[in-house]
Amino acid sequence: MRAACRTPHGMGAAHLTIDLNAVRANWAALDALSSDHVETAAVIKADAYGLGLAEVAQVLAASGVQSFFVAIVEEGMALRKILGDGADIYVFSGHTEGDSEGLAASGLIPLLNAPEQVARHFTKTPGHPFGVQLDTGMNRLGLEHADWDALQDDLMEAGPRLVTSHLACADEPDHPMNAQQLRSFRDMTDGIAHRRSLAATGGILLGPEYHFDLTRPGVGLYGGMPFGDAQRVVSLAAPVIQTRLVRPFETVGYGNAWTANVETQVATISGGYADGLIRAMAPGARVFAGNIPCPVVGRVSMDLITVDVSHLDVVPDTLDILGPHQSVDDLADAAGTIGYEILTSLGNRYSRNYQGAT
Ligand SMILES: *Cc1c(COP(=O)(O)O)cnc(C)c1O
Repeated sequence: MRAACRTPHGMGAAHLTIDLNAVRANWAALDALSSDHVETAAVIKADAYGLGLAEVAQVLAASGVQSFFVAIVEEGMALRKILGDGADIYVFSGHTEGDSEGLAASGLIPLLNAPEQVARHFTKTPGHPFGVQLDTGMNRLGLEHADWDALQDDLMEAGPRLVTSHLACADEPDHPMNAQQLRSFRDMTDGIAHRRSLAATGGILLGPEYHFDLTRPGVGLYGGMPFGDAQRVVSLAAPVIQTRLVRPFETVGYGNAWTANVETQVATISGGYADGLIRAMAPGARVFAGNIPCPVVGRVSMDLITVDVSHLDVVPDTLDILGPHQSVDDLADAAGTIGYEILTSLGNRYSRNYQGAT
């Protein structure tokens, strides 16, 4: 595939590079963790976790992914245009008011979550494929046990394409909630004649008893925890716009939040909280000149970040915010958040460069 530059920008924009070969390798590595009869799907909600729905979907479909999951019908409709007929597209939010036409026209499979959704589906789109999402303790989305008992015969007769649930604590392997939800899922579904799915990225890593017939990894495809063996997918390099010498007792940035103790060379780089580099990451965050860390000083602004580069022999043209020495999860740690939030916040001002072949 050609290297696509989605949004041409001047020199001032930070450069986001997305390695589609790494996405493909991460999918293959997660697929290899379950046995051959288990299908490995892909979760590409929220613009493929911020990395680009079309680019990611095409590379995964070309790798043999058959089933995709999105959050809402609008995402599914966009994905159907990208993939054409053939792929199965499941919608986590199910069949909500106003969804019927879009679901039918784009051939999407809603995961029905509540008795109202079941009624709506059978009335508005009779005969249209569906799946079911069960609540096994997370209390977020899904039919409760009593609803399932009441509706199970009707649902089984209509033939769901998939019966699913979702784990609340799968990123903590020793958490007792995992075994509890597994028991609950099996209580509710053992013996049914339809395909089942419980595991997202974390659940795949918990082991084969969590895999059932289909797994649904998201964040692991994009290089995020809890998939510690993932290949890095994103790198982000910010141009140095200006450097200056700051004298002792002078301050840097909004609120005079940082004061120089000694003469300090400060570089101002392009990128800020409007690009998803949230204010909470300063202080304590670092960027890299090659393999040399450079501390962020002062507050993150909307468009700019200031960095101490006094210890560098030469200030490079760009400094790495994400790269070989700093992952999405490292940056998330510095900001007191999770990799998922850093990924899905990556801004649209970056010049984007996709590497890899379909
Ligand atoms: C987002 C989501 C996934 C994917 O989860 P990851 O932790 O990103 O692998 C799977 N299932 C459901 C229901 C989800 O909401």
